[in-house]
Amino acid sequence: MARALEMIMTETKDDRIVYGAVNCVWWDEIANAGSKPGGLPCCPHCGCVLMEMPRSQWDESVKRYEDSGHPNYSEFVVWLKGKCFPSISKAMEEYERV
Ligand SMILES: [Zn+2]
Repeated sequence: MARALEMIMTETKDDRIVYGAVNCVWWDEIANAGSKPGGLPCCPHCGCVLMEMPRSQWDESVKRYEDSGHPNYSEFVVWLKGKCFPSISKAMEEYERV
């Protein structure tokens, strides 16, 4: 019976967010990231190394940025998920086109 509990606990979803910080602005759940030979998470499109943070912190920082005078930023971020762009401005250009 202790074993059942153990199973439930190990199945708890890993909800960390990973995002490109240098040459790419890709982001997604950590489960969707690629990985480098050494095990580091990377962008599955360009292989750029990623940073990670908890989901709650990610959502908070997106909201904070939107509240500081960037309306619709959270919509843009949702659109951006899973897309590989070399910079935010390039991604914004594409976003405004669609
Ligand atoms: Zn990338």
